[in-house]
Amino acid sequence: MFNAEDIKKDFPILRTNMNGKPLTYLDNAATSQKPECVIKATERYYSTENANVHRGVYMLAEIATGLYESTRLSAARFIGAVDGEQQPLYSDDGDIAEIIFTRGTTESINLVAYSWGDDNVKEGDEILVSMLEHHSNLVPWQELCKRKGATLKFIPIDENGEMKTDSLDDLISDKTKLVAVSMISNALGTITPVKEIVRRAKKVGAVTLVDGAQAAPHMPVNVRDLDCDFFAFSAHKMLGPTGLGVLYGKKEILEKMNPFLFGGDMIREVDLYDSTWNSLPHKFEAGTPNIAGVAALTPAIEYLLDLGMENVFNHSRDLRDYAVSRLRELPKIHIYAEHAKNFSGIVSFNIKGVHAHDVASVLAEENVAIRAGHHCAQPLMDLMGESATARMSFYVYNTREDVDRAVRAVQKVYEIFKIS
Ligand code: PMP
Repeated sequence: MFNAEDIKKDFPILRTNMNGKPLTYLDNAATSQKPECVIKATERYYSTENANVHRGVYMLAEIATGLYESTRLSAARFIGAVDGEQQPLYSDDGDIAEIIFTRGTTESINLVAYSWGDDNVKEGDEILVSMLEHHSNLVPWQELCKRKGATLKFIPIDENGEMKTDSLDDLISDKTKLVAVSMISNALGTITPVKEIVRRAKKVGAVTLVDGAQAAPHMPVNVRDLDCDFFAFSAHKMLGPTGLGVLYGKKEILEKMNPFLFGGDMIREVDLYDSTWNSLPHKFEAGTPNIAGVAALTPAIEYLLDLGMENVFNHSRDLRDYAVSRLRELPKIHIYAEHAKNFSGIVSFNIKGVHAHDVASVLAEENVAIRAGHHCAQPLMDLMGESATARMSFYVYNTREDVDRAVRAVQKVYEIFKIS
């Protein structure tokens, strides 16, 4: 049974308060809080399991390597990068080939932009993204286009913040080399039709990347079903540690790609002037990785799987519905993507005459943590004619009481700014 009150008890930070006001944490799209099992795994790792990976033959080194590689399997299964027997694809050296650990979604996308992009995109080619993208899934492609003389194109969105798929016929052509879209907008919470977009991109042979930073933590994901070539997500938004990301890539594409970073662990043979590369996935993991982070990702994944990703999704969406119904009662409020058909647990809003930062500051006084700003989606804000919105984003431990507390704090904004 999914019970947010019980779930809350697993998160020590949610027991803290400020001047007696309990923490109401509604900035989950930025990063999630961590349950005890993840915190304990980090402590256990440094207390009893710490060693470098893939190098030593002593017991600790084998324990650390075992933890690191078993998390790769958990991550593969979590996003469905497995066959019917739950088995991933292996390299010739017997390692899980399609899961690469990075520092986060941002680094994962940069890896693809440099390693795949530099060798496969040329002058006159086109890259297609959408108007909803987080800067992480926009700036790397802008830079690739500049390096190569390629053109960036944009899938438009409608007034509900949903992608207009009827424009795809005009936008996708033989010139399209890559289509990179976010599965859930971090600014609006709308869910995008990635499966349909991937299908259309495949017809012209374009490579596809899905920015799953908001999707992996909040909804069931199956990369085999989506059939995308790359899928990127971050551990810190799904109860896991900061500084760790996962890049899924199809083996046949990853095998043809050059490394992104160079150094230890990613090589096979090195002489004075030249080197050859390790097999997948190590070719893309230069240097000592975030082993402690990887060790703490498995408990985060297990925690979510125990709750059930459908339940996780429905819970945040219910809270979003509830928050929208409460906020709607207030005067002079604009809720973005209010009537979107496909959305997750995010509400973006503005109160006429009050800057979003002021809204967030009044809420902060009540120990209600929300985000105000452009949400790293400036082109989307420009399109909406705003410089900022206030955003509440929900997760597994949030309750209706949290929403009520946030709405009471929003009512204070009206009192302070004398808005009626
Ligand atoms: N894409 C989306 C949709 C995001 O929400 C975020 C984080 N806000 C990112 C990419 C970047 O993730 P990270 O900062 O973990 O690299």
